[in-house]
Amino acid sequence: MAEKIKGRTEIAELGEFGLIDTLTAPFKSSRRSTIKGVGDDAAVIEGSRDTALLFSTDMMVEGIDFDLTYFPPKHLGYKAVTKGISDIAAMNATPEQITLSLAISSKISVEWLRDFYSGVEFACREAEVDLVGGDTSASVTGLIINISAIGRAKKSNVVYRSGAKLNDLICITGNLGAAYMGLQLLEREKRVLAGIDSLQPQFEGYEYLLERYLKPRARYDVVEALAREKITPTAMIDLSDGLASDVMQICKSSACGARIYLERIPIAKQTSALAEEMHIDPVVAALNGGEDYQLLFTVPLEARERIAAVGCIDIIGHITAPETGAYLVTPDGSDIKLKAQGFKE
Ligand code: ADP
Ligand code: MG
Repeated sequence: MAEKIKGRTEIAELGEFGLIDTLTAPFKSSRRSTIKGVGDDAAVIEGSRDTALLFSTDMMVEGIDFDLTYFPPKHLGYKAVTKGISDIAAMNATPEQITLSLAISSKISVEWLRDFYSGVEFACREAEVDLVGGDTSASVTGLIINISAIGRAKKSNVVYRSGAKLNDLICITGNLGAAYMGLQLLEREKRVLAGIDSLQPQFEGYEYLLERYLKPRARYDVVEALAREKITPTAMIDLSDGLASDVMQICKSSACGARIYLERIPIAKQTSALAEEMHIDPVVAALNGGEDYQLLFTVPLEARERIAAVGCIDIIGHITAPETGAYLVTPDGSDIKLKAQGFKE
């Protein structure tokens, strides 16, 4: 273990969230137009009369957030847009514009960038979002992508991480862990190609997992479906860091506890099949995997039937008192304390 140097704090000691808290604590919003600053999926800014503007920004760094040896450029472009607009959907708002900035290394060609932008264009068309700007620079290390997204919502419809109430139902869209298993499959192929692993890569039957990792779709469709059923969640977050970490974010912001029932966590067949093959617990993939870009939200108990009418939504638990903490309940009735998966370095 590295010796601790006096007067120097390592970033790992604080973790990602601790670091953000420390750095942003001195900033108190002074503008009346700032409705919500740091601390949610997107900032909320005063719009005109009853509308609010939503703003979010995200970074994707080569070697940290993606690996160009197996990431097709078109998919990477698509995923960058997803990352941006998913945070707007998580505020129960409609994404409308994005900006995209790149720091490009010399190994990237114009043809590669054209493919990347065709993925961006595809995602923009699908989500009816306009690309309205960006910035272009060079990088001596790897490719860096910054995506910012702007959205709009009626002020009274904006959903924060902080609104969960005692006994609210905890809901989830789609299924979890698929993106993580897709990544495991690609990493295994990379090891095979490098001659480290002797198993032949086997993608057949697992195309769904690859798609979920390489080309995830943001759930703005759910925002529209909830509006149709006249459901306004009490709290919401998009699942980028894994169920455990994101449930804990809701608990922290809403000052509450949570109970999640293990057998209710939706996991796709392909996810369980590959997890078994690779000796990974599929529940661990769902809890800690991240990058699912599904929505996690809470609704009052009385919305149960309307939630069932939306389809593609599972109720996986409920909100408890703050002093009880956040727990996963296993089928044999034992409680496991949820832990966030630490710092994404
Ligand atoms: P998400 O995973 O939804 O994109 P993050 O966990 O990255 O959200 O960020 C949580 C909050 O912290 C957001 O409000 C984000 O804008 C803010 N934040 C993250 N990094 C910084 C930073 N370096 N400076 C200021 N605010 C930051
Ligand atoms: Mg988010």
